[in-house]
Amino acid sequence: MPRRAVRAVLALVMVAAAVLVGTAVATAGPAAPTDGCFTWNRDLAEGASGDDVKQLQVRISGYPASGEVISVDGKFGPATKAAVSRFQKAYGISETGKADAATYKKIYELQDDDCTPAHFSYAELNNCNSDWSGGAVSASEAKANALRTMWKLEAMRHAMGDKPLRVTSGFRSKACNDQVGGAPSSRHLFGDSADLGAGAHSLCAMAKEARNRGFHGILGPGFPAHDDHTHVDHRSSKYWDAPDCGVTN
Ligand SMILES: [Zn+2]
Repeated sequence: MPRRAVRAVLALVMVAAAVLVGTAVATAGPAAPTDGCFTWNRDLAEGASGDDVKQLQVRISGYPASGEVISVDGKFGPATKAAVSRFQKAYGISETGKADAATYKKIYELQDDDCTPAHFSYAELNNCNSDWSGGAVSASEAKANALRTMWKLEAMRHAMGDKPLRVTSGFRSKACNDQVGGAPSSRHLFGDSADLGAGAHSLCAMAKEARNRGFHGILGPGFPAHDDHTHVDHRSSKYWDAPDCGVTN
């Protein structure tokens, strides 16, 4: 090939390469991570407030101090800060106590597009009906309660070595609750309950770990009718009764 033609071909190749690179950059999109469920648009630290704080509080609700429950009130106070630090420590992220890029990245990894955590689903927390109706609270409240409980279970699962937790019963309508002989005031009517069956962990191991995961209600071995499962929920005042496990108020 004549030298001039070689130069022309080289020039064409370089133009083509530049076009390809340009295309790749153009389709890469924004640098900020986006998520099918919820995307945070700012870092959050103590003193912040808003719906994005509420969304954060749901995700870190399995990281309170022992015996405590993280409020989902949209106010980033000391308890939220401590919970963010515990979440960061649990996943090997630097412990800043602030919801920052590394924290959101981990949350995005953990959450599915319907906002449930990776290892639990709405279907698993409701084998009663498809629309969460007929309980002691509105369907939307029952479903929101179940979501909080799932994030607590995700934290519990991770703390217990990432082995499966088996949910045997979750939300119940009044009809479903009567059918299985549940107590008339059962927390299952509120959607925040999960009954856990033995499997990778003993009932007592789960009852003990639940104390650190934001569950005000823990019933297990030694409590009437709870020798074949450990029950957890987030009732308003603490009631722990799994005497055979040494789990009491
Ligand atoms: Zn139960």
